[in-house]
Amino acid sequence: MLNRTASLAAAFAMATTAAHAQPDFDSIEIKTIHVRGPVYMLEGYGGNMGVSVGEDGTLLIDDQFAPLADKIKAAIAKLTDKPTRFVLNTHWHFDHTGGNEAFGETADIIAHENVRKLLAEDQIVLGRQIKALKRHGLPVITFSDGLSLHMNGEEIRVTHIPGGHTDGDAIVYFTKSNVLHTGDIMTAGRYPFIDLDHGGSIQQMARNIDKLLAMIDDDTKVIPGHGPLATKQDMITFRQLLTDSMKIVRSAIAKEKSLEQIQQDGLPARWAGWDEGFFNTDQWLAIVYRSIKEK
Ligand SMILES: [Zn+2]
Repeated sequence: MLNRTASLAAAFAMATTAAHAQPDFDSIEIKTIHVRGPVYMLEGYGGNMGVSVGEDGTLLIDDQFAPLADKIKAAIAKLTDKPTRFVLNTHWHFDHTGGNEAFGETADIIAHENVRKLLAEDQIVLGRQIKALKRHGLPVITFSDGLSLHMNGEEIRVTHIPGGHTDGDAIVYFTKSNVLHTGDIMTAGRYPFIDLDHGGSIQQMARNIDKLLAMIDDDTKVIPGHGPLATKQDMITFRQLLTDSMKIVRSAIAKEKSLEQIQQDGLPARWAGWDEGFFNTDQWLAIVYRSIKEK
C-alpha cells in the first residue's frame, strides 16, 4: 500500500513538472483551423478551443490560460467583428478555464453546475493547488442535464456526460455543421487524464465514449480535448486504448501483480507514441490501476 501510494505520488509529481509546468506563454501562438460552416478550432497551449462565429455573435468553447486571453481574442477578431457573447466551459480544469476572468468581464460564461462549484473554491489536481476564480470568472449560466444555444444558423446542443474525465464534463454538438467538441472525454493520439479525485474513472470514460460513438457518423468532425482535429475513426481508436488498458491492468491485478510489475510489462507496441502528450506509459498505467482498484 505504501509502495503504491509512493509510486503514484511520484508519477503525479513527474506529470506535474513535466507536462503541466507553465510554459513560456509569450512564445505560444494561437492557430486557427476552419472545421466546417461557422465552426473553428483554435489551438494554443491547453485544451482545444471551439468557436462559432456569425450574425448572432461568438460562442467560445474553453479558454485555456489567462496569459493567452489577448492572443485568443486577436485570433477570434480575425474571424468576426462581433463580440464574444458566450463562453462555454467543458469542465473545470485550469487548462480549459484559465481565461474565464478575462472573458467573463464582457461575456456570459456557461457551464455545468458542478463546474461552477469547483471553480468557486480552491482545488488540488495533479498535486497542484488551483485558486478559486474571481466572481466574474465564474459561470453565470449553469445547467444540470444540458441546454441548447440557437445561434449562427444552428442548434448547438450542450449535454452533461459525467464521470469519465470529471463529474462536470459537457460535450457540445453543432447539429447542422455536424461537429462535436468532446472536452477531455476524448484525447487524440495521447493518453488522457482521468481526474479520479473529481469524479472521473476509466470505466465510465469508456461507457461515455460509447455514448458519443452512437451520436456521430463517419462525416462528423471531432474536436478532442487535446490533440489534432479528429474523426469517428479516431474515437474508435481511443476507445480501443481504454479497452486494452483496462483489460491488461485487470488481468494483471487478478494475477496479483503490483503496479510496478504492470509498468514493467507496459502496453502493446500499438500504443507507442501515445506517451508524448501529458503522461508517459508508467503514469497512464498508474491512473488506470488506481481507477480499477478504487472505482
Ligand atoms: Zn481536463
